[in-house]
Amino acid sequence: MSECNYQIVCPFFRHRIPIHDTMYQQHVAHYCQGTSDDCAILLVMKSASFLKVPKDLYPNQKWRVEGILASKDLLSGAGWPKLEDDGK
Ligand code: SF4
Repeated sequence: MSECNYQIVCPFFRHRIPIHDTMYQQHVAHYCQGTSDDCAILLVMKSASFLKVPKDLYPNQKWRVEGILASKDLLSGAGWPKLEDDGK
C-alpha cells in the first residue's frame, strides 16, 4: 500500500468530481492511499492523460476505462479548471 503519485493532477482527489464526503473518504482510503492500480482514473491517466478523464468517472468504475480510451474524443475531460486557476 502506498500513496498514488497522481494526486496532484487527479480531478477526483482534488475534489472536482461531485461526490458525498463519506464516499469520497472511502475511495481515497481504498484507492488513493491503497490499491491505486485498480483505480479507473489512474488507468485513464496512465494510458492517455488527465485531460481524457471524464468529469463523471469515479475510481471504482474500471469497467468504463476501455470505452473511454477507445473514444475518439481526445479531450473528454476538456473544461477542467487549470490547476493554477482553481483556488486551492
Ligand atoms: S483517484 Fe485514482 S488517480 Fe486519483 S489520486 Fe486516487 S488513486 Fe490516484
